[in-house]
Amino acid sequence: MAVNHRELSWDDISLTNKLLGSGNFGEVRKGTVNLDGERIPSAIKVLKRGADEAARQDFQQEVDIMRHAGYHPNIINLLGTCEHQGNVVRVHRQQYMALEMAGNGDLKNYLRKSRVLEVKDPAYANTRQTVSTVSSLSPVQLLRIACDVATGMEHLSSKDVIHRDLAARNVLLTDSLIAKVADFGLSRGEGIYEQTSKKAVPFRSTALEALSRRIYTTQSDVWSFGILLWEIVTLGGTPYSGMNSRTLLRSLREGYRLPKPRNCDEDLYVYFSLLPTCVL
Ligand code: AMP
Repeated sequence: MAVNHRELSWDDISLTNKLLGSGNFGEVRKGTVNLDGERIPSAIKVLKRGADEAARQDFQQEVDIMRHAGYHPNIINLLGTCEHQGNVVRVHRQQYMALEMAGNGDLKNYLRKSRVLEVKDPAYANTRQTVSTVSSLSPVQLLRIACDVATGMEHLSSKDVIHRDLAARNVLLTDSLIAKVADFGLSRGEGIYEQTSKKAVPFRSTALEALSRRIYTTQSDVWSFGILLWEIVTLGGTPYSGMNSRTLLRSLREGYRLPKPRNCDEDLYVYFSLLPTCVL
């Protein structure tokens, strides 16, 4: 269902106690929202109690970027927002963000759960022969997920939204295994972004120019997409496992790139390496 963001009244929202996760500014709970008389399953993000001004601004910025991005089937869409006191009297009114529900959670965990052999080994699938013998997901399903992410990212880039933190943990899967790019609301809606704050950088999936000079563009998102493809092929493996950020930066500058996982087809690996600035 393609819906445009709207202001919701408190009566339109129904929250359960089921915690889906917690993030930068607060909790995400399972719930439903009432849209035109229809109850839609939703993940409801609530700003932390006693959140400071910076967190409030980040929350508002996430809403603004999601609104700017508009609807697309391969991104997590904003259903609506609501400001309300909730059931408890608080100094601040609480802010709520109702997001489309992705019932199968994040891609990284889902890939790891699909492993039929050793679940926790970070080098898994690097040492196995073919995806079909190591995963309960078929190669076609895995490729479908990769295509969904590419389509969602293409939409974001057409809106000049740079993600800056694309990785399997920030892709969510619906009940029918449609992949949706999430957490782009923390990005910046600009063609090029120079990070000036000292926020922690997800160094394993960040492009070399972004690590070195803090310059983020759609091309640096393409680098992260290459790493995400590697995560898919290794069923949630940890990229550059065993390397710390300093060693990795030095190695990347010297031309080192993620090696081909053993279970990855040679043709597929060569194809990925042709992606612009891609690292595979
Ligand atoms: P976030 O604050 O966006 O990083 O979300 C924290 C966690 O909540 C995520 O890692 C997911 O496990 C969960 N979550 C967030 N949004 C959704 C959603 N739309 N559907 C299902 N789970 C979600």
